[in-house]
Parts: sequence; structure tokens; C-alpha cells
Amino acid sequence: MKPWTIDEAIRTYHIDRWGNGYFGVSQRGHLLIQPEQGKSEGAIDLMAVIDEIRRQDIELPVVIRFQDCLRAQVNNLCQTFQTVMKNEGYKGNYTGVFPIKVNQMREVVEEILEAGEPYNFGLESGSKPELLAALAMNTNPEALTIVNGYKDRDYLKLALMGRKLGRKVIVVIEKLNELQDLLDLANEMNVEPMIGFRAKLASKGSGKWADSGGDKAKFGLTVAEIMQSIYLLKARGKMPCVKLFHFHIGSQITDIRTIKDALMEGARIYAGLVKQGLNMAYFDVGGGLGVDYIGSKSDDQSSVNYTLQDYVEDVVLILKQVCDAEKIAHPDIVSESGRMITAYHSCVITEVFDKRKTVKTDYDTTPVETEHMLVSNMRQILASIDAKYFQEAYHDAAQIKNDAIQGFKLGVLSLDERAKVETLFWQICVKLKDLEDRVEYVPEELQALDDELAEQYFCNFSIFQSVPDTWAIDQVLPIVPICRLNQRPTVLCTLADITCDSDGKIDLFVDVPHTRHALPLHDLTKDPYYIGIFLTGAYQDVMGDLHNLFGRLNEVHIYAEDSDSSGFYIEEYILGNRADQVLTSMQYNPQSMALDIKKMLAAQVKKKELPPRESVMLANFYERCLRSYTYLNIH
Ligand SMILES: *Cc1c(COP(=O)(O)O)cnc(C)c1O
Repeated sequence: MKPWTIDEAIRTYHIDRWGNGYFGVSQRGHLLIQPEQGKSEGAIDLMAVIDEIRRQDIELPVVIRFQDCLRAQVNNLCQTFQTVMKNEGYKGNYTGVFPIKVNQMREVVEEILEAGEPYNFGLESGSKPELLAALAMNTNPEALTIVNGYKDRDYLKLALMGRKLGRKVIVVIEKLNELQDLLDLANEMNVEPMIGFRAKLASKGSGKWADSGGDKAKFGLTVAEIMQSIYLLKARGKMPCVKLFHFHIGSQITDIRTIKDALMEGARIYAGLVKQGLNMAYFDVGGGLGVDYIGSKSDDQSSVNYTLQDYVEDVVLILKQVCDAEKIAHPDIVSESGRMITAYHSCVITEVFDKRKTVKTDYDTTPVETEHMLVSNMRQILASIDAKYFQEAYHDAAQIKNDAIQGFKLGVLSLDERAKVETLFWQICVKLKDLEDRVEYVPEELQALDDELAEQYFCNFSIFQSVPDTWAIDQVLPIVPICRLNQRPTVLCTLADITCDSDGKIDLFVDVPHTRHALPLHDLTKDPYYIGIFLTGAYQDVMGDLHNLFGRLNEVHIYAEDSDSSGFYIEEYILGNRADQVLTSMQYNPQSMALDIKKMLAAQVKKKELPPRESVMLANFYERCLRSYTYLNIH
């Protein structure tokens, strides 16, 4: 066996494929965050961060936010657009807006706006609460606030209030009657609205959210409805208010061809609108710019078959070509890229606290003279396995196992013999697995052995709170141990969380060319074993729920800092939910619960079932648990 190296660790976990340059491995085998993409200078040692978190008595699991990655992604997006526009002779500008729904945390929105200030980066809202946030946060008068989603009068009124504050708030019309309401309200409030049209394109997206486009899409106006809107606007003398054309064909578009399709169609509609006499200024390509979570550069739903550069070139070039052909001015380009900006900046760190071998192979199978032939035959297979007798051995063993169970049901095999057959079968599987490296071709059915032979590692977190999409839509996220990467991982594992839900597990992992069902990890020792789930910054951070009343996680926000000896500083701790907080959110009253418990304990004391001293201790203990973190206290 070749000696294990850091490079081998990077290859095993495909860190260079999905990491976008933000992650590396130190010589000591610790996972590194590299705020300067691809450069190890200024890298932050994640184990050092965890040590500091632990020293501050912050309990795991934690969410760690790398604020530098947020800034870098905003810069990457804006600069790529600016460079491509310049190189291609595109006459318009680029302005981005951040769709708040992708990560509503104030610190995230603030950081993006701050990094985006030089580019007049704005916000997109999809609901009243999001618009309330956008109005308060997006104070740059040059930046756009784009208002999407279904709208009632209050939502529209909030948008118009933004106009009164001197902001560029654009109401995107998703349904015809919204336009009527908007014009009426604007009239009442005596303010000029800024209006956008969201088109329902015939072109569909690709990947999981393909149905956000196409005829059955939930949002947007058909071309006929857009034409009707124009008549309405003309009748009311409000044609000049229409400023923006928009479509959004779904998040995580996996295939670049669908982006091209949508752009061609969208650009022609845009040109048509200009020719109808609308004084348009912005072409808004929506979201959908995907993230390659598994690094396979494929159209797998967790991957994308294009780069940021490819995406931007297509947007700019197609729009330029169509505008030039139609002889209209180049509009400013707007994108609503949320996933691309936020995915990289956060991860969940949890600790493995226990394991379970799913397969038991230590039952005594020593031959006895009178044993049934099936047992001896099974033992014979185990002894004969080699690189040549490989797949056939598996077939023979599976056959015997089957026969043995039939035999057991008919009373031919004893309990002891059945136990021996099953144990030998698993020993055969383990031996086949060990031989895998030495055979040229491992048949598909034997690849499934990974899954069956894997150990289960229990991690202190809830999938439903921290990575809901791994459960809901089989989203694959990169998972890497953050220490011991200088040692060979020797155990194939699946992960289980601490919810009492059999769905609370992860058994799909990054691998190339295809995902795998078990992840190589290290055996557990007496030292804590930490693993990180990465790329959780888009949607995952904020979509989790309180399954089993496991609450929000403790959070730390870190920045790289050259002048600090550890290369980073923790700017902020945000404490996660305590038990009493999650209980309160479910309508319990923890204070009166504690009081009730005290009374019940007192009653026990009165009945002489409990010494008074112990009852006080138990009451205090109950109260302390109410004030504690909802996750396991392992240390
Ligand atoms: C969700 C959403 C986005 C964000 O899409 P990403 O793929 O995360 O960039 C953008 N625009 C609209 C209208 C959305 O609904």
C-alpha cells in the first residue's frame, strides 16, 4: 500500500473539485479555509477555530460562517460580468441583487451589501417580511430592490413606500391583477412606481427546479398577458414606468443549454417590448446560477456542467447578439444569484460520538462434526475466495444463505447453524470488499456491498435542522473530517443524526464520476472526531425545522486577519436555541412547567417518597436543562 499523503486526502474527499479554491489541507492534516481562493497564504486552520470555540464554552454542533468567502463570491460575480462585458463590447452595466430567501440572516445580507457597495449591489424580496428587511437594509439609492412573489395591497404599498424613500424599488408583476392594484395604489399615494414584468417562458430549466419555467410555472405572465398589461398601461398613461424585464427558470440549473434557450427566448421578448414603445432599462436573468456540490461538472442535480465564466459569457453574448440583430440598445443586466453567492460561506461542524457496526462477524463458527452441509459449504467458500473466485463466490454465498434460511424455516437447520451461516456470509462480504483493490472490475452488485458493510457513525446534529435538502431532495453535500487528514481513513461509514427518525441519516456522498453510498472516515479514538458538512450557506442554513425540538445551532462568524497569530478572529457568537426557547415556540410555558415540576416534587416529599434535599436538586436540574442547548452534551 502506498503511504498516505495530504494530496491523497484531497483526492479522496475531492476537495479540489467542489471547493472552488476555498478549502485546503494543512501538513498537520487539518482542514483549511482559504479566503484567497486557491492560495494557502492567509489560510485559516479549522481545528484552531474549533479549539477557540471550545475555549469560549460554545457547544457543538456549530455553524461557522466565513464572511470572507461571501465577499469573495460577490466580487467574483460582479467582476466576471464587468470583464466579460468590457471584452465583448457590451454597452450596458451589470447590477446584481441578492435574493433574501436564500439566506435571510442579517449578518449575511449586510456583508453582501457591504461587499457589493462598489457595484451598487441590491436585494430581491419574495414576501412582505423580506421586503421589510430590504427597505431597512438596502439604503444605497443607486441599488435596485426587486419585489417578486405574490402581492397583497400591503406588500405593494411597502414597495411604493420605498419609492417615497427615494429608492429604486421595482415591483415585478407576476399576475395581471397585481398591475391594476399597483397603479391604483400609486395613484392614491401620489408616487411613480417602477414596474417589471416576469415572463413565463416556454423554455424550461433543468435539474430539480425545472418546473419553475414552462407553461405550468407558478409564476409569471404569458406573452399574451404581457401584451394585455401594455394596453392597460397605455390607457393609464403609465408606459414609462416599466423598467425591467425578468424571468427565473429555477434554481440550480444543471445544464447550460437550458440557460441559453431561456436567454434566446427572453431576449426576443425583451426586444419586442422595446419595440412596443416601452422605455426599458434592465434585463433581469433571475437566479439559477448553480453550484457544483459534488465537483463532477455534470448535469447531476447536485452538479453543473458550466463555470461562472461560461454562464456570464452566455448571458452577455446572447443578449448582445439579439439586441444588435433587433437594433435596440443594450440594457443593464441584472442577476438574482443567491446560491452562488452564499453556498460556500458556511458549514456545520459536528462531532461523531458513537458508532454501530451494522454487520456482526464475530460469532464463533468453529466446525462441529455433525454440522449441516450448508454451513460447511459456506465455510469452504470463505476459504477459497481469491481474485479469480470473486463474483462467483458472492453468488454462491448468497445462494447458500438463501437456502439456509429456507432450511431453518423447515426445521432442518438449528438456530446455531443459522447464526453460523449468516456470520460466514458477512465474513465473505468483508473478504470480497478487501479484495476489491486487486480485481480489475468490480461488478455493480458488489459495489452495493459498501452500503451494507458500512459502519454507522452517529453525529451530534439534526439533518432536519441543518441540512434539510439532504433529506428532502437527496441533495449531496461535501462531508470531510476536519482533523486527521494526514492519516488514511480506514472505515467506510454512513452518518446518522440524533433525531428519532429513521430518515435522519446521510448515505449519499461526493465521489467522481458518481456519488457513493459510504464515506471513508477514520476509526474513533478517545480524541474528539469532528466532521464538517460544507456548502450549506444557501437555503440549508435557514430552511431547517425543529424536528424532535432540536433548535437552531450556535453560530460563529470568522474573518481572516493577517495580524493575528492564528490568522483569524471570531467577530461574533450567536447562541442557538435553548430548550425553553424551542418549547416556547410550540406554545409551552417553561416557567410554569418548572413551577409545576416543583409542586410535583414537593408532593413526593410530603408522601415521604423523596428526601427534601434530592427534590431541590432535581428541581434545579430540570431548570438547568430548560436553559440548555438542545443538542447532546457529549463532554
Ligand atoms: C429563489 C429565487 C432566486 C434565487 O435563485 P438561485 O438559484 O439561488 O440563485 C432568484 N430569483 C427568484 C425570483 C427566486 O425565486
